[in-house]
Amino acid sequence: MLFLQTLSNSRFTVSDIIQLLPDNIANQIAAGEVIQRPCSAVKELLENAADAGATEIRLVITDAGKALIQVIDNGKGMSGTDARMAFERHATSKIRNIEDLFRIKTMGFRGEALASIAAVAQVELKTKRAEDELGTYIEIANSEVSKQELCACAVGTSISMKNLFFNVPARRNFLKSNPAEMRHIVEEFIRVAMAFPTVFFSMTSNGQEVFHLESGSLKQRIVQILGSQYNARLVSVNEETDYMNIYGFVGKPETARKTRGDQYFFVNSRFIKSAYLNHAVSGAFDEMIAKDSFPGYVLYIDLDPSQIDINVHPTKQEIKFEDEKIIYAFVQAAVKHALAQFSIAPSLDFTLNPEIQGLDAISKPFTNDKKEAASSSGLFKTFTQKNQAHFIEGNNTGELKHWKDFFTTPGEEPQTSKQPQTPNPKRQTLQLVADTPLLQLHNTYVIASTTAGFLLVHQQLAHERVLYERYSLSAHGRQMPTQKTMFPVTLELAGADAAFLTELLPDLAVIGYQVEPFGNNSFVIQGIPADILAGNEKHSIELLIEQFKHFSSDITFSKREKLIRCMARQQAIKSGQALTQKEMLALAEDLFTCNSPNVTPTGSPTYLEFTKDYLDKMFGR
Ligand code: ADP
Ligand code: MG
Repeated sequence: MLFLQTLSNSRFTVSDIIQLLPDNIANQIAAGEVIQRPCSAVKELLENAADAGATEIRLVITDAGKALIQVIDNGKGMSGTDARMAFERHATSKIRNIEDLFRIKTMGFRGEALASIAAVAQVELKTKRAEDELGTYIEIANSEVSKQELCACAVGTSISMKNLFFNVPARRNFLKSNPAEMRHIVEEFIRVAMAFPTVFFSMTSNGQEVFHLESGSLKQRIVQILGSQYNARLVSVNEETDYMNIYGFVGKPETARKTRGDQYFFVNSRFIKSAYLNHAVSGAFDEMIAKDSFPGYVLYIDLDPSQIDINVHPTKQEIKFEDEKIIYAFVQAAVKHALAQFSIAPSLDFTLNPEIQGLDAISKPFTNDKKEAASSSGLFKTFTQKNQAHFIEGNNTGELKHWKDFFTTPGEEPQTSKQPQTPNPKRQTLQLVADTPLLQLHNTYVIASTTAGFLLVHQQLAHERVLYERYSLSAHGRQMPTQKTMFPVTLELAGADAAFLTELLPDLAVIGYQVEPFGNNSFVIQGIPADILAGNEKHSIELLIEQFKHFSSDITFSKREKLIRCMARQQAIKSGQALTQKEMLALAEDLFTCNSPNVTPTGSPTYLEFTKDYLDKMFGR
């Protein structure tokens, strides 16, 4: 009975059990891909405003975007018909045929954003074109238009979306804390604002203006966003060829930081993430900065849209280049050039092939009069010819590798994640032989005699295990003792990093860090875990932020577990450090009381055990 009723309600010919989804449900499902959280809507709306040619764009946020996201622009506006059309799925003014896809210069083109937003929020749109006397007002929610009328309004468009996911409670519950969502919003805002320096941008959150970015030069925009510490510390990069142009700025080596915060790549005005290109820039800095620090940069690449495929990622942050290696070499060479030109690089050391190395443009430093000649010929022309092979390593800069690299001391091989190895599965309870001195080898290994034989302990890995268990205990109830810092240290962070740290504060407190927000993206470190060397606190927090950014998408571990792993790893005694008898003894004793003394949290062995039986056998006894 019920079954028949359902069938007769369906809009199409009766099939047995298959039905077409009602539009609003189909839209809700499709919206999941485009609008995952408030920041996705922020990105789409800001990009629409930029596409509409606005010179002023204002973003208004309430309750981290959960209550309201509004974008007001003075762009070209829409006609009444277009305003209504804009909310249809696949409605776009930006492509008409498949060829357009390869010429696309605008930020949007899929025609999905507004339809998605209207499916999962309550939307109000006001829009007017310059040639129209009156504008259009539309109210739409759950994909249904509830009002459309003429209205008096300014030229441009104002869209506000309220109560995101009001009709999809499962998604709404999935949203993170306000600081976490806010951090993502700030990130998206910054990316769009950096891509369009000549456009005025402002951002207001809960009635307070948090960004006010006057239109200006690229450099002014960068300093406005990244902070005045970059003033006078930026080196300009600017190279043009037939194939592509690159321009923007890299920070002088002294601005390199322990966290990866200030690294931005834009391709045809679109922010992109690329570990590969990042590697190219870092490589250009080579020996100029410490291995564990990151150069700041804001670089823009413009090239023929047919050379890239933006369509590979639904939210379009990753792109595929037609010829990645050329781009890599070009970016690296351009940055090296810029550094050399400003006499920052001690010498030119290009890893290009010898033929290219020989070119004047690289073998001689740039002088002003040569600069022009070189940019129209010379090195950069060679990039227009395909297959001018350069010596480029494969892309092995995956995040995981990086995360490991991060903690390894110079000269040490990064560890790879192995399955837990038990040096001796039939391990007896470990017990040191009383009154027998321990011996340190190469400032890395400790030899300890045990009742059953001896252990070769890796000091760094062993200590990592010890700290990991200690922090885990504290995370599960046994609060770590804190030592007050004698002189509270202040920490100033970029906006996005500050939001990030705010989110971590409660968990940091559990393991003994007392860090307090101090307004204006700064923090005061009041106390640190009792067993951490004072003086190290700022660095250790910067490291943590960097780690977390890399691993924020890793869902295998809880936030707290990630924090504990990071802390254990970064605070462990490093290889290369000389230890006293007392320290070695403490390390061995601490290790032996661990629940799993034989492996690090990531599964590397912490020691090798040589039993007397085994040794006897080896000597044929
Ligand atoms: P897309 O940007 O991919 O085309 P959207 O759903 O974001 O798809 O927008 C649909 C269309 O609505 C756009 O192609 C554009 O014509 C119009 N539109 C959206 N936002 C604005 C705006 N702020 N000003 C003018 N036109 C807009
Ligand atoms: Mg769009």
